[in-house]
This record gives sequence, structure tokens and C-alpha cells, in this order.
Amino acid sequence: MKLICIGRNYTDHIKELENEKPTDPVVFLKPDTAILLKKQPFFIPDFSEDVHHEVEVLIKINKVGKHIDKKFAHKYYSEIGLGIDFTARDLQAKLKEKGLPWEKAKAFDGAAVIGSWISKEDVKDVNNMSFTLQKNEDLVQTGNTSHMLWKIDELIEYISKYFTLKIGDIIFTGTPAGVGKVVANDKLVGYIEDKQMFSITVK
Ligand code: ZN
Repeated sequence: MKLICIGRNYTDHIKELENEKPTDPVVFLKPDTAILLKKQPFFIPDFSEDVHHEVEVLIKINKVGKHIDKKFAHKYYSEIGLGIDFTARDLQAKLKEKGLPWEKAKAFDGAAVIGSWISKEDVKDVNNMSFTLQKNEDLVQTGNTSHMLWKIDELIEYISKYFTLKIGDIIFTGTPAGVGKVVANDKLVGYIEDKQMFSITVK
């Protein structure tokens, strides 16, 4: 399986990183080895001094598809989740400066947190769904899928032009504002509306 990640999908986060508003979604992949194993802490890698949390809504693909029209995209997923796209921001800045790929900054072991899953039937409207990240019980990121530049169905259409989507593939749909550094002993807890989706400790 693969993890397909979207960058710069919320205008407030684009402003935060002073990026230009893209004409196409930014897409990158993480390998399955990036998945943080259940109940394991996240270990800050020794090659970074500035690892950031990015809380993101996740979509789990349940049907094989290629060139999926956005009209039919809703048939390709039935579960929604929440996770973290951990990013070594210092390394990413160096790679960006040189125009190099981001993988070392985003696809390292443990860089993908995948929380529990809920059926999309249990959400009133997937395109108007709030989610939050708390760090040490402080609210640090708040998002709502209604603020996505590309909605879930549009992302599935876009991604499937390039990559065949397979059962079990997971889409990370981008982060809202509020990304920030993690340090040892931080506790990160993510919620979709009032439902807790993950809780992890940083080491
Ligand atoms: Zn991200």
C-alpha cells in the first residue's frame, strides 16, 4: 500500500509558510515503512532539530481505480481518519532551496501517524467536518474540511490521473494552520469533531 500526501491544501497554512497558492495540488508519497506502529511513541530523528506536527484528515481507499471522475470519487472510500504528517522542517527547507524532492524530510520511519477510522456515514458532511490537534492539552491546530482548496472528491480525481489507487491506500489531505515543533515528552491528541482519533507521545 501507499500513502499519498497533499501539500498546501488550506489557504491559512499556505500563508503561514509563505508559499504561493498553487494551481495544482502538491503531491508526494510516503512508503509503508513511514507508518508509526500502533501504540509506539514517535522518536524525533537525529537528522533534524525542527520536526513539525501537521494534523491531517485521512481517506482510506476501498476500491481499485484509475482516472476516477470526481462525480464517482465518493464510491472509492468509506472510512475517514485523522493522522499526522511529521515533517523535518529544517531538512525540508534545505531540500526545497535546492529544488530537490522532500522524501528525506517527510517519508522517514515513523513520519506517518494513522489514527482510528470512522465510517463516513457517521459524519454529517465530510466537506464540513472539523478536526483539531492538542499538544500537551493546548489546542494547537484547528481545521475544517470546508476550507480545503481541493475537496476530497477532487483530490481523488486528481491523484488517480497519476497513480492507480488500490484498496488500503491512504490519502493525507493536507494540514491547516498551526503547525509547530515537537519536543521530547510532548503528547499529541487528535480529534474529529469530539471523537478522539489518536494519542501519541514524542520521545
Ligand atoms: Zn502535510
